[in-house]
Amino acid sequence: MKFDFHTHHERCGHAAGSVRDYIESAIGQGLDMIGISDHTPFFASAENRPSITGCMAKSEFPAYVQEVLELKKQYRGKIEVLLGIEADFLPDHLDLYRSVIGSYPFDYVIGSVHEFAGIGIYDSDYWEGLTAARKWEVKNMFYDYIAQSAKCGLYDILGHVDSLNRYFNGYAELRTEAADVMLKAIAESDVVIEINSSDNNWVPDGYLLERALHYGVKVTFGSDAHEPERVGEHFAAIASHLYEIGYREWAVFRNRERLMVPIGR
Ligand SMILES: [Zn+2]
Ligand SMILES: [Zn+2]
Repeated sequence: MKFDFHTHHERCGHAAGSVRDYIESAIGQGLDMIGISDHTPFFASAENRPSITGCMAKSEFPAYVQEVLELKKQYRGKIEVLLGIEADFLPDHLDLYRSVIGSYPFDYVIGSVHEFAGIGIYDSDYWEGLTAARKWEVKNMFYDYIAQSAKCGLYDILGHVDSLNRYFNGYAELRTEAADVMLKAIAESDVVIEINSSDNNWVPDGYLLERALHYGVKVTFGSDAHEPERVGEHFAAIASHLYEIGYREWAVFRNRERLMVPIGR
């Protein structure tokens, strides 16, 4: 079973191609399931579209859902198209997100931390300016945010857990018990983490994945493709990496229900 649960498209303002382009690319690569999971609009903002490159306008959201549902029908028998969404984890606006998301027939919801305590995950300059002690605190705080996102109950999948690995120099080498606390919280909340293959730099890395398996955390796969040709990227390599670590199954979603399928080598 080949699948990819994390893809974007041009509506968000920083990805290329239409939803159909991503589906066609998935078919070309022999995927059985393709999940479309664009970024949520800024539901909490008074403006329709506070940033044209950040995510789609609020007014576009129903059209997004409609288009994916339409394509799901059109492609039936060729590939299974799933309706997903990547929602920002914003602790202050959880009820709002819960009610909007709950009013559409999503197959799954990805929860991602893109910002925590006012710190952007891509802000490598911020990180460079910190003392060693503060770096450690920031890492702990990030893990705590992810643990909170797991516990909030809104998500099926946690997106790019440990993404700071990609942008913050020396982050990976900082060992902290907060990682284990986070993984336990994820396991207890029974939420799945994705192995995110974008940037050719997978997250989480092998170290965290081995700990994740130890705590019984379930996994799935997402390319986080922002270009159609990147759909499914590194799927086979990640499958065999997981197998080597000791994982034997991973999760797919339909109708907000999880199904575990074997990992092929
Ligand atoms: Zn994006
Ligand atoms: Zn993301």
